[in-house]
Amino acid sequence: MKGITILGSTGSIGVNTLDVVSRHQDKFRIVALTANSNVELLVEQCIRWQPIYAVMANSENAEKLEKLIHDKAPDTRVLAGNPGLETVCQLAETDYVMAAIVGAAGLLPTLAAARAGKRILLANKEALVMSGQLFIDAIHDSHAELLPIDSEHNAIFQCLPPDISGGLGPNGVTRILLTASGGPFRTTALKDLEKMTPAQACAHPNWSMGRKISVDSATMMNKGLEVIEACWLFNTTADHIQVVIHPQSVIHSLVQYADGSVLAQLGNPDMRTPIAHALAWPERFDAGVPQLDLFEVAHLDFEAPDYERFPCLRLAREAVNRGGTCTTILNAANEVAVESFLHNEIRFTDIARVVEQTIDNLSVHEPDTLEVILADDQSARVEAGRIIQRLAA
Ligand code: NAD
Ligand code: MG
Repeated sequence: MKGITILGSTGSIGVNTLDVVSRHQDKFRIVALTANSNVELLVEQCIRWQPIYAVMANSENAEKLEKLIHDKAPDTRVLAGNPGLETVCQLAETDYVMAAIVGAAGLLPTLAAARAGKRILLANKEALVMSGQLFIDAIHDSHAELLPIDSEHNAIFQCLPPDISGGLGPNGVTRILLTASGGPFRTTALKDLEKMTPAQACAHPNWSMGRKISVDSATMMNKGLEVIEACWLFNTTADHIQVVIHPQSVIHSLVQYADGSVLAQLGNPDMRTPIAHALAWPERFDAGVPQLDLFEVAHLDFEAPDYERFPCLRLAREAVNRGGTCTTILNAANEVAVESFLHNEIRFTDIARVVEQTIDNLSVHEPDTLEVILADDQSARVEAGRIIQRLAA
């Protein structure tokens, strides 16, 4: 039995993880479940799974949770805040940590799991984008295992040779082809983009996801964050990663080899596939996902991304090429801008403006320590807030 802690169990990835675990209850035990503000769903999950711990992001919600599960999950201990999240990542009972908190809030607990040498199932790409080398060093130092949950990175992981510690080139890999659906605005007239609402941005054609990543998919900042994520996960540079728009989201990514071969991973667009892959790895088991029917798919289309339509993708590529804390700044500015767009304070097309101006206005530092990374994350949030106030005025 492997013990699992799920950071962000009430979110889209968290709920899908519990669905996969429910199919393999002989193999897994839920050690801890955590949530930000959805007390009701965490109550339900605690009653169903009887975890050893449940964590709420703040103490007020933790008290509410404690009262509500007192009789129905009497052995579940309730903790609060970052110290609680870090504790449940480090427990001896925890073998696997599903890192599925959205945004920078996931960094400290995911880093705690890395330092504690756990198997990390990484959905929270923002943590890696923020802290890059520091995070990868923590994984290596503690011999933790890092398995990608992002469907594209999980696909690439499956298509790469099993040991890439010598680098991609020496293993015959020439290029990674990172697929993207193009999101809900792939064919929207450019002049109409500024009028797009949060509801339209969150209506993804192929995937059902949390609101932040849905907006990121509409701007294609998500793909930009994924280029950065791939650089760290697979020890490569952005020039070795080509983004390919593939509207059907059936091919989840591909790897090109020196001999002309291209390996791809295909499947129905359902996050339970990468989640099951990472839970079972190196074995395989049922994910509850219907088998792919190629006759039903019939066509696979590809196109090059357009930087005029998707300026966020260009900004992310520039940030990773520049290095240092530039990706930390990009990520923080984007989080603030997306939140502001979701609250109808700025227009859809302002998201890229806020990110670009924030990067232009700040200095980039060497991301040697967590303190430097957190300080630049904070400065970017303040600067993005100022830019938003000016835009909204
Ligand atoms: P979501 O919004 O549905 O869920 C987020 C989870 O994080 C919730 O459980 C919430 O309670 C928790 N959370 C949010 N803010 C928090 C805070 N400040 N402190 C503690 N907990 C907090 O998001 P999601 O779609 O499940 O995405 C989660 C992560 O997985 C993101 O980083 C996203 O980029 C990544 N991801 C998601 C998908 C997908 O299909 N949903 C695919 C690939 C990658
Ligand atoms: Mg993805």
